[in-house]
Amino acid sequence: MIPLSTGDKTLRALDISIKTLYLTLVLGYLLFWLAGLVSFRTLVVHPKEVADVVRHQQASMGSLEEAFDIDQEQLEVTVQDYSVWDDTWNYIRNRDAIYIESNFVADTFVSLHLNNVIILDAQQQPIDIFLYDAEEERLSTPKNLDNDTFQELQQLLSLDGPRSGIIKINGQASIVAAHPVLPSNRDQPSNGWLIFSRSIEADSLATKERLTRLQVNLLPWVDNSPALDAPVDEPRTTFVRCLYSPLQKPVLCLEISDPNTRVPDLLGSEVWKELVLLGMVPAMIFALILRLIVSPLKRAEAHLRETAETGKITPFPVRGGLRIAELVRAANSHNQMVETIRLQNTQLKELSRTDSLTSVLNRRGFDDRLLKAWERLHLQPLSKVLILVDIDHFKRYNDSYGHPRGDMVLQQVARALGGIDTNESLARWGGEEFSLLLQAGTRKEVEEIARRIHEPIERIAIAHHSSPTAAQLTISVGIAWIHQQEGDDWLNKFQLADWVKCADLALYDAKASGRNQSCVRELRYCQELIAETPTPNPS
Ligand code: GH3
Ligand code: MG
Ligand code: MG
Repeated sequence: MIPLSTGDKTLRALDISIKTLYLTLVLGYLLFWLAGLVSFRTLVVHPKEVADVVRHQQASMGSLEEAFDIDQEQLEVTVQDYSVWDDTWNYIRNRDAIYIESNFVADTFVSLHLNNVIILDAQQQPIDIFLYDAEEERLSTPKNLDNDTFQELQQLLSLDGPRSGIIKINGQASIVAAHPVLPSNRDQPSNGWLIFSRSIEADSLATKERLTRLQVNLLPWVDNSPALDAPVDEPRTTFVRCLYSPLQKPVLCLEISDPNTRVPDLLGSEVWKELVLLGMVPAMIFALILRLIVSPLKRAEAHLRETAETGKITPFPVRGGLRIAELVRAANSHNQMVETIRLQNTQLKELSRTDSLTSVLNRRGFDDRLLKAWERLHLQPLSKVLILVDIDHFKRYNDSYGHPRGDMVLQQVARALGGIDTNESLARWGGEEFSLLLQAGTRKEVEEIARRIHEPIERIAIAHHSSPTAAQLTISVGIAWIHQQEGDDWLNKFQLADWVKCADLALYDAKASGRNQSCVRELRYCQELIAETPTPNPS
């Protein structure tokens, strides 16, 4: 809290700067927007985005499943073509080697994308087993299948519907399709089984990747993973899905990722970008407020503090460029006030140097002039007179005509002496005494001054019946002359007070010589007397 002083009252204000206030407001504004954006995203946008992505990913999974199904259906058709065929039927009956040689060579496996062909008799015992290694392009004829495979195949053959699915053939996950062997016209019962299988390998997955735009990798078996047709419950970058045999035995797992779909974030970079955009406007306003309001206010505050500390009242420097009208008006008002104070100070200064009765300089004002003149006299070889004027028998005047009339006489004398004051230096030295500073280069000029100074007093001819000197008011004048010539340095032996003493001695001379006259003394030759005479006090 900062106490604000307003006269005799003291206000207490919240200790908060414009900057802090504005930043708090902007922070509140941004928090308000953040809360709004988060709520909007949580309640409206994000659930919709999630639902869209789930729908999309569900469709992608469906496409992949469809690709496996198409593969399986193609294999079913192929195996059916070969098994409902007289040649195959006859082969199982007669075992002509020519049938095998012309139908199950390496090219057959390549063109039909097959890896295994298994021919069983009616008792489901193997007649022929062909194994094609695509990598090594080698066709082999193993005698037996491993037990697990054999059992899987028997279970497949026992199915009612299409006898196809995904099972492991000798440990290799494969798409398998089987069909009973029949003559082409189907007029004889089946005499065996024909089984085709196609291994599921990286190569065959590449085709599915192209079709579905998914990335699919083979994984070792991962327990408790959902089947390929399981519903998508939430958006993911990667899914692990497994393929099961028709009898629900685990066969193979796939790692499926969808590079084209982004999992929506609740607070993604979008939200932060929006916030940054929202924050840019107040940031720019802040920069403007700083430049146009806070900085000038700070300068004004520093200026006022300096004024308070130094007591020196100066106007605000009003700078150019874009400015706030209210601040400019405040600065102008302050500057006007400064002008008024300066004027008042000047007037006060003048008043403090002016005699209230006669409106000429008072003693303080004269002392300043005297000091300046003294200093100039030390810089340049000038010649000057200090004149002390004392009204003769003024006590008697007051006694005879009254004090108010005496005051009026003082005003008249001041006006009259003003007429010869070419230097605007006339001052009321004190009581009924006046002082002047005039230029006087030669003794003749000094004598002229000494003579002329009585003329205006004679002209105003103020009656003074109680004066033993004359029927009119008269003055006695003491003049102390400083007469310097090029190269003189005698003045350095004197002090300012000596000049005044010298003038006072001259005045004393005038009084002692019968009043109503001027006496002149040269300061240069006042030295001995000065030592004996005390500094005069105005009476
Ligand atoms: P002298 O010729 O020797 O100077 O005699 P004087 O009477 O003028 O001198 P003195 O020092 O005895 O008296 C000065 C008088 O000036 C006394 C005082 O009443 C008068 N005086 C001083 N100041 C004022 C003033 O402001 N107004 C009036 N009316 N009289 C004043
Ligand atoms: Mg007098
Ligand atoms: Mg006097």
